[in-house]
Amino acid sequence: MSRMHGQSHHVMVAYHGCGAQWMQQGSETGHCCGCHRTFSAERAFEAHRRDGNCLDPATLERKNGAALLETFTDNAGCKVWRFCLTSAEKARLNNLPKIGAR
Ligand SMILES: [Zn+2]
Ligand SMILES: [Zn+2]
Repeated sequence: MSRMHGQSHHVMVAYHGCGAQWMQQGSETGHCCGCHRTFSAERAFEAHRRDGNCLDPATLERKNGAALLETFTDNAGCKVWRFCLTSAEKARLNNLPKIGAR
């Protein structure tokens, strides 16, 4: 994403005609018009699409058999799918300097 947009991190409540309502984070959050699930990131959305079809995110696994996606409830009360972090990844994230902190 090279587009520089003053509001790219703007958070707002977004809606879909199916009645879903979720917290939209810039251009990252995505609601699927096929299965009406909401995803926290474009990559999480893409992970549930296979050959033009929607897969149940609960059935997606990593190569080691661990769950790939998990849900959390956002501030709008929407069940949102996001990548499940492995304990190794969580540890790595904790060691990173805070990105975006000013
Ligand atoms: Zn879908
Ligand atoms: Zn929908």
